[in-house]
Amino acid sequence: MSDDDERVETAPEGSTCNKHPERPALVTCPRCGNHCCLGCWQASAQRCHECLLRDPGPPVPWADPERGAVAGFFGTLAEALSPTKSAPALTRGDWREGISFALITCLPMALITGIIPFTHTIAFGQTFGVTLIGSPSSAELGLDVARAVGVGLLVTAARMAAIAVPYLSLTKAYGQPIEAQPARQGLLYRAWLLLLGGDTGVLFGLVVWALPAEPTDLMILGAKIASLLPLMMLFFSLSSTARVAGVGPIAAMVVVIVPFVILFIGEPLLIEALAPILPDSETIREAVDQSASILKRSPSTT
Ligand SMILES: [Zn+2]
Ligand SMILES: [Zn+2]
Repeated sequence: MSDDDERVETAPEGSTCNKHPERPALVTCPRCGNHCCLGCWQASAQRCHECLLRDPGPPVPWADPERGAVAGFFGTLAEALSPTKSAPALTRGDWREGISFALITCLPMALITGIIPFTHTIAFGQTFGVTLIGSPSSAELGLDVARAVGVGLLVTAARMAAIAVPYLSLTKAYGQPIEAQPARQGLLYRAWLLLLGGDTGVLFGLVVWALPAEPTDLMILGAKIASLLPLMMLFFSLSSTARVAGVGPIAAMVVVIVPFVILFIGEPLLIEALAPILPDSETIREAVDQSASILKRSPSTT
């Protein structure tokens, strides 16, 4: 614990970075005493890049053999809330250990994500109400749900690719080769935030389901903002991860901005391309309204 108390001092006036003689030094590393430029200084670990790689601190809870599976699981989920502090751990260990965590967190969400927005026979709304549209047989219902799950998986795979492919190639281009593959670890341990957030994310679906029959504009705005929070957490996680992967401070923003721009442009295009097979929102609203009027009428008729 005394490591955290190490005083960080500014580099002497006029000194240059030990690794980059052409750059001015800003900080003296409390570990090795080297003078560091802005690029070499790892603020998240309060030491230089070399010292970070030599001693990255405690492992990701999921990959920590001293923790049980449950504590490791929830510990890793909670670390998403401190993207900077938890980033150094991603530079150690074997990135393959993150695969099981990604499957456990993402697979259930990927399977349910399509059901609320993409079913034709079930309308969700009215404070967790469920309304059948028309009078589908159980076979029709089953097929419809299976198809919605399929569309959800397709959209999820496309969203993941939109973030992962440019992020991995850009961090590789701007960062340093590190055996533990921090960029891959960052994606595996934080991909669940992508499935939770955004217009097609699980959170937005659930919030829309929870809203009353006639939500106010403020409620819809609130739902939109809530659905953006996980994406913001993902943004900062991936940016901090790029930083510990040796990407410079400004480039660490760029390597995340590019994937997010691709996501925000690509997602509406994909939904539009899928429109012919997606349920018509007018039909859903009518079904919900109809059931609402039936519900309102029923006390007076009985
Ligand atoms: Zn150092
Ligand atoms: Zn430097």
